Amino acid sequence: MITITVVAFAAVIVLAAVLGVSRRDRRRLAATTAMLAESESRLRMMAETVPAGIFHVDTEGRRLYVNPKLTEITGDPTVAPGDARAWLVYEPDMALLQREWRAAAEAKTDVHITFRIRRMDDGSVRWVHVDARPLLDADGEVTSWVGSTVDVTEETTAIADLRRFGEILEATPDLVAMVDTKGAFTYANAAARARFGVTTDEEVLALQAIDVYAPSSRARFIGEALPTANKVGVWTGEVDLLLPDGSEVPVSQVVVAHRRPDGSIDYYSSITRDLSEQRAFEEQLVQASLYDALTGLPGRAVLVDALGTSMEAALEQSHQVAVLLLGLDHFKLVNDSFGHASGDLMLRLVTDRLKSVAGPTDLLARFGGDVFCLLVPGVTGEADALAIADHINSTMSTPFQLDGDEVFVSVSAGIALSGSGGTLATAETLLRDADAALHRAKDRGRARSELFVEDYRATAVHRLRTANDLHRALTEHEFRVVYQPEVDLRTGHVTGVEALVRWHHPERGLVPPAEFIPLAEQTGLIAGIGEWVLDTALAQAAAWSAARHDGAAVAVWVNLSARQLGDPGLVDLVASSLRRHGVEASQLGLEITESALLEDAEGAVTALSSLRELGVRLAVDDFGTGYSSLSYLKRLPVDAVKIDRSFVDGLAVDGDDSAIVAAVAGMARALRLTTIAEGVENLDQLRALRRLGCDLAQGYFFTTPQPPSHISRLLESDRSGPLFSYGDEGVPPQRVG
Ligand code: C2E
Ligand code: CA
Ligand code: CA
Repeated sequence: MITITVVAFAAVIVLAAVLGVSRRDRRRLAATTAMLAESESRLRMMAETVPAGIFHVDTEGRRLYVNPKLTEITGDPTVAPGDARAWLVYEPDMALLQREWRAAAEAKTDVHITFRIRRMDDGSVRWVHVDARPLLDADGEVTSWVGSTVDVTEETTAIADLRRFGEILEATPDLVAMVDTKGAFTYANAAARARFGVTTDEEVLALQAIDVYAPSSRARFIGEALPTANKVGVWTGEVDLLLPDGSEVPVSQVVVAHRRPDGSIDYYSSITRDLSEQRAFEEQLVQASLYDALTGLPGRAVLVDALGTSMEAALEQSHQVAVLLLGLDHFKLVNDSFGHASGDLMLRLVTDRLKSVAGPTDLLARFGGDVFCLLVPGVTGEADALAIADHINSTMSTPFQLDGDEVFVSVSAGIALSGSGGTLATAETLLRDADAALHRAKDRGRARSELFVEDYRATAVHRLRTANDLHRALTEHEFRVVYQPEVDLRTGHVTGVEALVRWHHPERGLVPPAEFIPLAEQTGLIAGIGEWVLDTALAQAAAWSAARHDGAAVAVWVNLSARQLGDPGLVDLVASSLRRHGVEASQLGLEITESALLEDAEGAVTALSSLRELGVRLAVDDFGTGYSSLSYLKRLPVDAVKIDRSFVDGLAVDGDDSAIVAAVAGMARALRLTTIAEGVENLDQLRALRRLGCDLAQGYFFTTPQPPSHISRLLESDRSGPLFSYGDEGVPPQRVG
């Protein structure tokens, strides 16, 4: 339109010039001139008011005319017509402009071109669109150009932005789509087209939004996503899409409702993100945290969960749930000697064996390191659970093949049963109980099973506290030694005393040895304590000997723990202590329990032999409790046997106990061993022991263990006569204490 006007205007100018040369008809010319003048002013007025830049330039680009609007667009008020500077074309676009223009000039056709100029005033770069038409002379040669210029900066950049956004949309891996209010697709980006299996625009337009959802998500799309988007403008959520191959993918989706100015909904857009990879990753993470990578067994969390469920079910069905915590004994040794790779292999082999023991409803888990846990949801009682543990242990008795070596591994089991404590246990407390029992099994020598009994937990706490206090007991001088005499059953005289340690705890008072001696053994503290007792007892023995002018030395018996017996420095220690106090070796006796001797029978024999060479006397303590046979006694280089209190206890009532005491005494006599009866509390026992051929007796009947001062007085009175009489000879029975 503008172009047409301008072309007409330019044509008049050209015509006027032509007519100016012709003078053939002045009259007509005058009329025509007037008409033209009127027309020109009208056209000029038009040209100056149109909202486009109008120009008329010669073939060199010199201006013949520019309207004010063009001046405004170019920011070039100074240029006068005829100035060839023309508009300053933005340099990068110059070549394009010249090429197009030259082509048009040659073809004598219109030019339509968009390019950039640099404004004269502020130097800003603007986009302009120019439409121009060549004016031809009679020969058909181009004489000049007329045209119009519009500033299209706004539109051009908007379109460029749009194109850029379009490119981004196409490139994004998210699925972007537009859907009309009837649910038909109007746009799908490349990712969406690929997912929905469409390529052409027609195929996109044929898609219905509802069809891309998995059947399970359709109700959600219609009932929730659309209404929410309609109401608040946007909906976000997770749904499943249905793919052309029938598979479903989890996605997160944003649906936006776009409105027209009048408020009605124009269309919907959606951005959809594939969650399948993320889901797989999450699942992998969960898997990794719940399952042990090495053995593939579930971990603690899975087991606790299953245990809780089993315990609930067990309550209803009145059976019990058993938890067996299985610790591999000395597994660290396998790692240390064969390397970690072999350790790992071992764990897998153990897993296989344990699996073979587990029933179909049992759950085997790994609790890290060398501890496994077997959950047995239905046991009938303790015996049942113990039988399972036994079965596991026998399964382990076959060696494992490790790098061509045969390796044995035993298992210690801690067992806890639900509902056995009377209290309502939780999965966690049951596991803690099983753990306490496992510790006890390990303490008691491993390769065995222990059932949790209710007070283990309290005991465990108590033990820990005691162990802590025991550390400082020696340096704080909290130990004392008391003595209990041993009396000759024939003469009634004291032949020796047994040294027994006492712990005076600053807060708890007297702590019985039965409580702290085993702890001291486990912690290794027994070495120091034992050394101190030996030294104290020998010092005391020296003192008593010095006080006794008849030369009859008092024998002192000191208890030796298994740990001490295994100590290679023991013999030197005993020898130097004897020397230090000037006590004859024959005045010292050492008591070693039968179970300590059994622990390391070979080592014990060697240690005992060396001690005996020193001249020290040796006794087997607590005889009869350690499953040792009488014939075993023959091999031991000992001098005395202390018959355990439990046999003495039953002497008066139980014929079997009499038989055992008789057998021990008879055997001892044959081996030339002294027999000492422990825990004699009454005269009946004393009489029975004498009859059975026992040599010495010790017990409350004479006196409880006493401090040295008391024993000194006792020894004093012993010199003036026997401590007791049997009352057989009409003398009333007596006792001291
Ligand atoms: P044990 O060597 O068998 O000591 C005898 C225990 O029986 C002592 O308990 C003693 O007090 C107690 N007893 C003595 N006569 C009677 C009686 O007529 N009736 C009853 N019911 N008991 C009687 P104690 O002193 O509590 O010692 C317990 C255990 O602690 C000892 O048993 C011993 O194995 C250990 N022990 C004590 N002192 C030491 C020590 O210095 N070193 C080591 N390694 N162990 C010690
Ligand atoms: Ca003893
Ligand atoms: Ca004993």
